[in-house]
Amino acid sequence: MTEPSAASASPQSSPAPTPAYAAALTVEDFRRNLAAIRARIAAAAERAGRDAAEIRLLPVSKTVPEERLRTAFAAGITQMGENKVQEAQRKSENLADLGISWSVIGHLQTNKAKNVAAFADEFQALDSLRLAEALDRRLQAAGRSLDVYVQVNSSGEPSKFGLEPVDVAAFLAALPAYSSLRVRGLMTLAAHTDDAERVRECFRVMRHLRDAGLQAGTVGDGLLSMGMSGDFEAAIEGGSTCVRVGQAIFGARATPNSHYWPESPAAR
Ligand SMILES: *Cc1c(COP(=O)(O)O)cnc(C)c1O
Repeated sequence: MTEPSAASASPQSSPAPTPAYAAALTVEDFRRNLAAIRARIAAAAERAGRDAAEIRLLPVSKTVPEERLRTAFAAGITQMGENKVQEAQRKSENLADLGISWSVIGHLQTNKAKNVAAFADEFQALDSLRLAEALDRRLQAAGRSLDVYVQVNSSGEPSKFGLEPVDVAAFLAALPAYSSLRVRGLMTLAAHTDDAERVRECFRVMRHLRDAGLQAGTVGDGLLSMGMSGDFEAAIEGGSTCVRVGQAIFGARATPNSHYWPESPAAR
């Protein structure tokens, strides 16, 4: 999943390096990128013997300016995922006329629970009971409920947010206490590596946790949010029901991923 470096590509023998994702600027660009992603989703579902209709595509719009989100909306994108709550809330306010459905997919500090409770339609990074409690309190006060996914650190990488797999069962069992949270399923970021087998192992871990949660009756709808631009096909083969795709739709981001999932726990 790391970008191939130009220096290592030998023009004679190596396959062409993956082209950088071009920025989508027009409605036409968005339509073309969406059609390409949907075709790849359908092909991956077919390989896995699954129905593509059960796989949701959540476009991830972080860092993309609001004017381009209006263009994306005109191309049919009506739900958007954002990693940072302040950016998401600003966009939701400035684009309120469009009626976009906003999904917050990044780690949230407890003191920002009120922001998410105010505008988000979904929160995919629930990772502590303190946060569940804070969200529930704010939601009760606002008379709202919220779809949530519990984030799991399936890769064991210290840089990733989320519960350790061993803690998931007890966590899920505690969530019914927070009645305004509607548990939809589990979310993860797979290992950031070119090693396809390690990535697939992350998806297998998630599927086992989901199956255990379904048996215990604690994981709500048992949905699995996993897969991004670089690994969504493997995620679908691994059972994903929601792929979160940013760069392959909107274009490459200048902001490094370390801005969203810090390289070391100390940076949190
Ligand atoms: C940015 C982000 C994505 C999408 O990543 P792309 O490489 O742009 O597809 C998915 N999930 C989360 C949590 C993200 O922050």
